[in-house]
Amino acid sequence: MKELNLDLHLHGRYAGGVSKNMTIPVMAEQTKLKGLDVLVTADILHKTWFEHVKKNLEEESNGVYRDLKGDCNFIIGGEIEDNKRIHHLFYLPSLESAQELREKFLGKGNLDCIMCGRPKLRITAEEFAQSVDDVGGIFGPAHSFTPYTGIFAFFDSLKDAYGSMHSKLEFIELGLSADTNSADRIKENHSYTFLSSSDAHSPWPHRIGREFNRIKMEKPDFKSLKKAISEKEEKLITLNVGLNPKEGKYHCTACNFCFSKYSMEQAEQLNWKCLKCTGQIKRGARDRIEILANVENSHPSFRPKYVYSLPLAEIIQQAVQTKGINTKAVQSKWKDFVERFSNEIFVLVDATESELNEVDENIAKKIIAFRNNLVLYIPGGGGDYGKPIICETKEEMERKKIELKNELAGISDIANQKTLGQF
Ligand SMILES: [Zn+2]
Ligand SMILES: [Zn+2]
Repeated sequence: MKELNLDLHLHGRYAGGVSKNMTIPVMAEQTKLKGLDVLVTADILHKTWFEHVKKNLEEESNGVYRDLKGDCNFIIGGEIEDNKRIHHLFYLPSLESAQELREKFLGKGNLDCIMCGRPKLRITAEEFAQSVDDVGGIFGPAHSFTPYTGIFAFFDSLKDAYGSMHSKLEFIELGLSADTNSADRIKENHSYTFLSSSDAHSPWPHRIGREFNRIKMEKPDFKSLKKAISEKEEKLITLNVGLNPKEGKYHCTACNFCFSKYSMEQAEQLNWKCLKCTGQIKRGARDRIEILANVENSHPSFRPKYVYSLPLAEIIQQAVQTKGINTKAVQSKWKDFVERFSNEIFVLVDATESELNEVDENIAKKIIAFRNNLVLYIPGGGGDYGKPIICETKEEMERKKIELKNELAGISDIANQKTLGQF
C-alpha cells in the first residue's frame, strides 16, 4: 500500500469563474509540480467536459485512470447544487457510471450550459444521494460550513438533510473555513470521515492542492478511496492538510461587500445589514459552528492529524518581501525549491530543516516557522480571504501582535476589534 496525496474537489473550465487553463493536461502537469498523486476529474456530468476527460485519460486497468503523459491519476467525480442551493460532492467507480448518473439527472436541471460544470439540479439532497448510490458512487456535502451553499447553513443536522439516505453518508468536506478541531466540536460529525480539498478554480500550485488528503491506497482508484473513507478504523487516511480556517473567505461573520467584521450579537441587532455600506452581513463558519457545537476538544479514535499548510509561493513572498507571488524573485526561488525536492508538498510538509537550508536559509527559516505555527492571522470573512503573517520567533510574534492591534484599532470599528482576540 502506498501513501498518496489526493485533491478531491476542483472545477474544470466549464464551471463558473474557472480559469481557461483548467484542462486535464495542464492540471496533470501542475499537479506533478505540486506533489499530488490523484485528482478528481471534476464536473463529470457536463457533456463537453466529459468528452474532454474521456479524450485525455486512459484507463490503465479496471477503474484506474491516468492522463496520457502519465503525470497523475484521476478519480471520476464532481459537484452539484441541489434545490436548496446546497453543494454536494460525488465520486464514482467509472466513466460508465458517470454516464448513468447523467442520464438520471437529465431534465432535472441544465447540465450542459457553458457555466454548468457544477449543475443546479431541481432535486433534494436525499434524491441526489439516492441517485449516486444507485450507480455505485459515494456522496457528501461540500464545504459544509460556508454561509451560502454549505449544508450547515440550511440544516442543523446531516440526518435532517439527507433523510432516508443519511445512513449511507460516509464523509463531509471541511472547506477552507473549517478544520478538524472546529468540525469535531459537533458530536454528529464524529461519525464521518473528513475530507480536505482545494475547490481550486485554476491549476497553478498556489491553488491546486492548497488543501489535500494523504491516504494509504492499494491503487489510485475509486475502490481504494471508498475503502479509506468507509472503513474508518483501518486509519487509511493519514493526514488532512489545509489552510488555517482563519484564512478562509467565510471564517468570520462579515459584510459581503466591504468585509467589515461583526459579532453575532451585532449582526442580529443590525438585522444583518452592514453599518458602513449597503452590503449584507453573512454569518461566518466560525459562528455557525459555535451555535451547533456540543462537545469540546474531542475526536473520534480514527481521526487523522490536521496539518496547516500555505502555498510555498506565499511563504517565499513573505521571506523575500515582494508585492505579489508572481514576481521574478518569488518564482525563481520557488523553482529552486521544487527542482531540488521535485515537488511543493515535499518542501512544505516533509523536507527536513537541514535539507531546506541547502537551498535558501532565509526561506527555510520561514518554512520552519510556519510549520511551528509562528503565524498571526488577520481572519477572513464575507468572501475575503484571511491573511497570514509568518514570524520567525515568539518575541517577533508578540511584538507584531501589538503592532497589528494598534493598526487595526486605528482603522476599524469595535466590531473589527472584536476579532483581535483570535490572532
Ligand atoms: Zn461548491
Ligand atoms: Zn459593508
